[in-house]
Amino acid sequence: MLIGHSAVALAAKKPAPEIGLGTLLLAANWLDLIWPVFLILGIEQVGVLADHPAMAPLDFAYYPFSHSLLFAVLWSLIFASVHWMRSRSARNAVLLGLVVLSHWGLDLVVHLPDLPLAPGGMKVGLGLWRSTAASVALELALFAAGILIYLRATRARDGIGRWSFWGLAAVLLAVYLANVLGPAPSSTAGLGWIALAFWLVPLWGWWIGRHRRAALPGE
Ligand SMILES: [Zn+2]
Repeated sequence: MLIGHSAVALAAKKPAPEIGLGTLLLAANWLDLIWPVFLILGIEQVGVLADHPAMAPLDFAYYPFSHSLLFAVLWSLIFASVHWMRSRSARNAVLLGLVVLSHWGLDLVVHLPDLPLAPGGMKVGLGLWRSTAASVALELALFAAGILIYLRATRARDGIGRWSFWGLAAVLLAVYLANVLGPAPSSTAGLGWIALAFWLVPLWGWWIGRHRRAALPGE
C-alpha cells in the first residue's frame, strides 16, 4: 500500500489538529520509511517474485523489524511515548500511536501472506493485491477520503498552503499510478536508495503544515 497510508495521516488531522501534518505523515508511513534504511544496511531483504499478481511484484522475503506486527506495536509505542514527552497530551499520543499501527493494518489487507506477526513467526496477509481493480479502488477511495477530511479540517494561510498541498497530493497520486501502470521491476538492486526518496513526503507535509491552520468551528 502506498497512498492509503498518507490518507490516514491526512484524515488524522481532524481528530488531532494539534499534531503537525509532517509528524502525521512520518507516523503513518514510518514502517515504509525505515524499510529502505534496513535494506541498505543489509538487515532486511527483498527480491522479485517470479510468478506474481500485477500489484505484488516484490518478494518481501525478510522484513521483521520494519513490518512485523510486534515491531509495528513497538514503533507505535515509541511514537506515542516521544509525543507524550513533548506535548503531555495523552490523547494525541495515543492517536499518533494508532496512526503508526494503522500502517500494519492496511498492509495486512493488501499484502500477500508475507507480513510476520513477530520476527521468525507466522506470516499473514489477506492478499487484496491479487485483484488489481479492488486494490486500486480501495487505495484511491482512501486517498480521496483523506484529502476531503484534511481540506475540511484545515484552511490555507496563504498561496503556499494551498498549492503545496495540492502539489503533494498530485505527486503522491502520480507515483502511485506509475507504480500501478509501470512495468514490474526486474531486480531490486538499488531499491532501498530509491525508496529513501519517500522521506520527502513527511518533509513536504511539515512545509504544508507551516502554511495551513486548523479550521475554526463552523468555518
Ligand atoms: Zn508497508
